[in-house]
Amino acid sequence: MRKGVPVSPGVAVGHAYCIHEVFVDPQRVHIAPQEVAGELARFENARRRSIADLRGLQEKVEKQVGKEAAAVFAVHESILHDTALVDKVRGWIQAERLSAPAALARLVEHYRGLLEKADDPYLKERLADIRDVVERLTAYLSPVLEKGSKVLPGPVIVVADELLPSQVVMLGDKPVHGIVTQSGSQTSHAAIIARSRGIPAVCGVDGVLRQVKSGDLLVVDGRDGHVLINPDPEVVAAYRKLEREFFDLRDQLAHNRESPAVTRDGTTIELLANINGPQDAEAAAAMGASGVGLYRTEYLYLTHASVPGEEEQLDVYRRVVAASPNHRCTIRTLDIGGDKTVPFLGRENREANPFMGWRSIRLSFEHPEFFLSQIRAVLRAAAPTATVPRPEVRLLFPMVTTIEELRRLRAMVRRAERQLAEQGKEFARVPLGMMLEVPAAAVMIEEMISSVDFVSIGSNDLIQYLMAADRDNPRVSHLCQPLAPAVLRVLESVVRVCNRGRTPVTLCGEMAASPQAFVLLLGMGLRQFSMSPAFIPTIKELAAHVSLEEARRLLTAAKKMKTTRRIHRLVTAELERLAPALRPVLMD
Ligand code: PEP
Ligand code: MG
Repeated sequence: MRKGVPVSPGVAVGHAYCIHEVFVDPQRVHIAPQEVAGELARFENARRRSIADLRGLQEKVEKQVGKEAAAVFAVHESILHDTALVDKVRGWIQAERLSAPAALARLVEHYRGLLEKADDPYLKERLADIRDVVERLTAYLSPVLEKGSKVLPGPVIVVADELLPSQVVMLGDKPVHGIVTQSGSQTSHAAIIARSRGIPAVCGVDGVLRQVKSGDLLVVDGRDGHVLINPDPEVVAAYRKLEREFFDLRDQLAHNRESPAVTRDGTTIELLANINGPQDAEAAAAMGASGVGLYRTEYLYLTHASVPGEEEQLDVYRRVVAASPNHRCTIRTLDIGGDKTVPFLGRENREANPFMGWRSIRLSFEHPEFFLSQIRAVLRAAAPTATVPRPEVRLLFPMVTTIEELRRLRAMVRRAERQLAEQGKEFARVPLGMMLEVPAAAVMIEEMISSVDFVSIGSNDLIQYLMAADRDNPRVSHLCQPLAPAVLRVLESVVRVCNRGRTPVTLCGEMAASPQAFVLLLGMGLRQFSMSPAFIPTIKELAAHVSLEEARRLLTAAKKMKTTRRIHRLVTAELERLAPALRPVLMD
């Protein structure tokens, strides 16, 4: 049994599907002379099948998500047609009698040597593409996957170092029931994606790829962070029961999607969805969200080969708004940097502390042409059309730190409006909001709210900055706790100031979906919550079991406690009493 960080609740049992950098069987680095022809054929077969896969994916993703998102697969396909690269692999198999996986591993090393030294972030990103392609080829060369079908029988548990955006898109093809990663933590993007799809996941399981091979039976317990490798049949049976309970409860709860979100004493609350693209907007509607509270636009850029133009952005934003419940959508401008990088914008040199470096609006300000094009595209997507006569679009800026930045942002928006008016393009004025995720902004919130129309609390970042603990580093994840007394104190003061100033306030960090945090936030006076769509039914159900008075009482009791553990224990016990049926989905 291994322990990691629980990042997406629920239990899953299934066979491991390892996404290795490249798996080379140590017994088979070299092959016999008579095996060379067969190995070349195996490599060719893997190449042919990978090309076919990539074409299929390109078509599918283009249809479902759009041309930009599909572009990455065209890049990957072109790598498989690159004769210089393919000839290298063939040459090593022939001349040095390396097995195909060993030759592919050498290929990655070869390009790593060449590209890692380059200063150009674009070239560095090419290395990631080569790795991606090599992983795909190796999957076809691995003995488990060669047995007939493309995937292992039954649902799979994906085991990876980290999940790359392109891999996440590909996962759409496989019945993924669980995710285990070596790196990452609660708020890393692999975790966010797992949660948005309702897949139980555990991150930060150091060295798990060395212990698990594809085909091993795994149990993933996303509630307490345990991963069991080839456990005894009795243990498997017990977990299969829990798995069934988890999925049954989730399906059962999804029936409440039509009902409004109200507390036991009849107070209406707003449950909104965090999304990454048009497809997620549909999931948000299916799960009963009343709108989109956070559209993270960076995924459009992460899967794109270059900066998308204004028209392309407009097309995607329009589709997202059209698919959003009630056509309500808060669009956040590009938030890259930290753990999200794109090759064409961003770091020139590696930063020692990327989360405290050149990210979000800090970066957008330095690419004013791009930034303005994004703002214009959002303002245009906010204009009514025949199919969406009353869109409710809001524009949200991440990582706001100072009042000067807010003034500069407002000036940018006015400039974008003037440009659109001059060009005679249809657009609408939209409410402007700030993400509250930097402690300095929390301290100054009283002064800042007069410069914005709404506030959205980004608790993922706010917590990491408050606690000085990297949100992606499993070593310090014990400090990144939403129920830490210091965090609760800051959140309460922000919510109070916003409510007093009648400035609408939402919380869109991952803690909105934590049942324990949810009740305390309710007690603080928060009424708008934005979360991964998969959690909406659970939180809606929970809300129906809690009255405001109980939530306030619980908050008062929690505030008397000095440690996170005590607060957690107190709230969990109370939740078990108030909503015992939700036990399978409560995280430990
Ligand atoms: C946050 O920081 O809480 C947030 C919602 O934004 P992201 O996770 O994309 O940084
Ligand atoms: Mg953030």
